[in-house]
Amino acid sequence: MKSIDKLPDELNKKLKMNGLLLKDTEIIHGMDKTDSATYIPVKIKAGEPVSATSLATLSEFGKIFKKVDMLIAEMGKNIYSGNIEAKPLKGGHDSCEYCPYDSVCAYRQSNPINCFSVDNKTVIEEITNEINGKEEK
Ligand code: SF4
Repeated sequence: MKSIDKLPDELNKKLKMNGLLLKDTEIIHGMDKTDSATYIPVKIKAGEPVSATSLATLSEFGKIFKKVDMLIAEMGKNIYSGNIEAKPLKGGHDSCEYCPYDSVCAYRQSNPINCFSVDNKTVIEEITNEINGKEEK
C-alpha cells in the first residue's frame, strides 16, 4: 500500500480541500504537514499561515457565527410570518440540484433570483461592517 505522501500530484490536486480555515499555524500544520498547500488552500511561510482568501481569524469566525445566528433568527421570523418564498442560491453551486421537490415547486423553471459570486474576504468585510453598524446603534 502506498503512503499518502507518495500519491501522485494530480490526485492530490483533485482531492485538495477548499473552504475557510482558522489562521493558526498549529492548526494549519495539523491539517497539512507539507506546509506547501498540498491538501488545503493554505501555505506556511516563515512560520505563518498564508492564503489570499482561505484564512479567517478567531474574531472573524466569531462574526461569521454571529451572522449565522442573525440569519437563522430572521428565517424563523419569516417562516412564522408565512413568508416561505423559494429563494435558493444559484450560481457556482445549485442548491436545488438534488432536491426531490423540484417538480412540485418548479423553481428550476424560473429565473434565478438569488445569485452571488463573492470571495471570502469580501463576505467577511461585509459581515464586519453589518455587525459593527448594528453595535453602534
Ligand atoms: S427545487 Fe424547490 S423546494 Fe427544492 S431546494 Fe429548490 S426551491 Fe427549494
